[in-house]
Amino acid sequence: MFIKKVKGNTFLVETSFQSIPFYKLEGGKIIMVDCGLIEEREGILNLFSMEGLKPAAVLATHAHVDHIGNAAYFQKEFGARIIMNEVEAAVANSIRGLKTTYSTLAATDIMKHFGNMVVEADEKIGMHEDHVEVLGADFRIIAVPGHSPGHIAVLTPDNVACIGDTLASCDVLGSSRMMYSFSISKDLESKRSLMDLDADKFVLSHKGAFDEIRSIIPANIKYFEDSADEVLSLIETPVGFEELLDRVIRHKGTKVASLYKYNRMERMTRPLLEFLIDTGRLRCEIVDNRLYYVK
Ligand SMILES: [Zn+2]
Repeated sequence: MFIKKVKGNTFLVETSFQSIPFYKLEGGKIIMVDCGLIEEREGILNLFSMEGLKPAAVLATHAHVDHIGNAAYFQKEFGARIIMNEVEAAVANSIRGLKTTYSTLAATDIMKHFGNMVVEADEKIGMHEDHVEVLGADFRIIAVPGHSPGHIAVLTPDNVACIGDTLASCDVLGSSRMMYSFSISKDLESKRSLMDLDADKFVLSHKGAFDEIRSIIPANIKYFEDSADEVLSLIETPVGFEELLDRVIRHKGTKVASLYKYNRMERMTRPLLEFLIDTGRLRCEIVDNRLYYVK
């Protein structure tokens, strides 16, 4: 884990799993854009301590575990101000809110696996707001919903665009068997909209800082289109969800030996089916009280 300069006062913490941007203010105070997994906390704290940095605020791109996993901790231990899009803030503010993301898990399992995500945002950004002032620094906000319902991209005062999970690098795309998106149709629209985004540098959470993103947008769109095509190829005759999920898991060569991993596969598969329905390639049929996916 190390800190890397991106431009001006914008830096990022590079972990083995993700890039976490931050903007440096006077006196070592920093405004983080997202704040990493709980498993990365110790490493992040060590880096901050070595560099004399204090997390004074966290501006979150969205409420996923690798983006707000330490938000409540930084709020409590450092008095960091937590700023989130209003929809993402509603998701993160309770186990009940998180249930909108982890809808097929019981509250007790959500608490066990994702309880550290629960945080009460100090400030909520409205869906149509295009900037936010944080401790005197002005950040541009761009709505890029899809990967999550209220996902935002954040531009630091140095004109560095922090894209969050709207795009992934080609390396990450190449090594990922499956990726999550809350609403693929909306996500693809948001990915396309980034073609017009003018910024001096771009930071992708997964992962790295780039001079441009136009060349990787088509690969990101193709990734989800290919994933949907793959799932569609596993359906010949009408099939129920459990049977189809089993086919997807086997096709991907994934080992699913825990509720957490099963839920991950389920959460990644359902949006692909919804995308196939949205694009007219699949439909649902109820036969004898059972749901079947039909081509
Ligand atoms: Zn995410």
